[in-house]
Amino acid sequence: MNDLTSVIAIDGPAASGKTTIGRLLAERLNYLLLDTGSMYRAVTLAALRQGVDVADETAVTHLAQSITIDIKPAAAEQDGRLSTTLLDGEDVTWALRDPDVDAHVSQVSSYAPVRREMVRQQQQFGQRGRVVMVGRDIGTVVMPDAPLKLYVTASAEERARRRWQERQEQGHNGGYDAILADVRRRDEIDGNRQHSPMRPADDALIIDTTDRGPEEIVAEIMLVAE
Ligand code: C5P
Repeated sequence: MNDLTSVIAIDGPAASGKTTIGRLLAERLNYLLLDTGSMYRAVTLAALRQGVDVADETAVTHLAQSITIDIKPAAAEQDGRLSTTLLDGEDVTWALRDPDVDAHVSQVSSYAPVRREMVRQQQQFGQRGRVVMVGRDIGTVVMPDAPLKLYVTASAEERARRRWQERQEQGHNGGYDAILADVRRRDEIDGNRQHSPMRPADDALIIDTTDRGPEEIVAEIMLVAE
């Protein structure tokens, strides 16, 4: 893949390893990483902070159109972040991982006008090229012409175990069963929503990370990507 305007589209469910794989690919290829989930999370966080009812589609849409979301390389931060997200100029990278955001983000991202606004911003980013874009609908809706599309998945139990471990490291004490229930609930909403449901593009490579580490997988993808 020697086209300088290249985009790698990576989709898959929560905690499937898609962002880790995306980060490694971006590092190897010297591409930018755009984690589109953090954009939906930023809208959700803004709604929660401003007391906007997440069930009110019109209000959430206005909010999505009025806030400024910036995603930048992790730069000097050495705290395990993969990139930095700014919401109206404030660094909210870790606030976006709050369980309260997890609990409401799928509802916010189910609204068609919210998606339109986010997709518009993501496509602008994609036009610059040399980007690895990670999400749920990148290969199907945002960048359907991307020359390389991956759909990264793993069993719900394994994904919940990873999320539980992440939470422990961040000092949250959620129980495994609650996290597994949340993973399944989000799969259900994201996979069955009316607008751009999560699914692999017809020409996506399907990658199961249940029993394999990211380094091994990325080495394989690089054989296809170069
Ligand atoms: O990837 P992450 O778990 O951070 O995404 C959070 C939520 O954002 C997903 O559960 C999904 O509802 C939504 N999302 C989406 N489309 C994307 C990326 C994320 O609907 N491209």
